[in-house]
Amino acid sequence: MAIEVVACPNCGQKLAIEEYVGVGAQVACANVGCNTSLKITQRKPLKVEKVPLKGTLNADCRPGSYG
Ligand SMILES: [Zn+2]
Repeated sequence: MAIEVVACPNCGQKLAIEEYVGVGAQVACANVGCNTSLKITQRKPLKVEKVPLKGTLNADCRPGSYG
């Protein structure tokens, strides 16, 4: 089973990603203090990017009506 290692772009934590995990798949950073969602953007060499959190930092995002 081949494993590639990539550093988390947020905290630098080394992450081991198994070979079968394809481009577009999402993984979570193994660092519990970071826990950033990462998306695999490229294999060989392995690259990941942060997945933006939906809504959390968006002032225009308002909760839906509960009425
Ligand atoms: Zn991280």
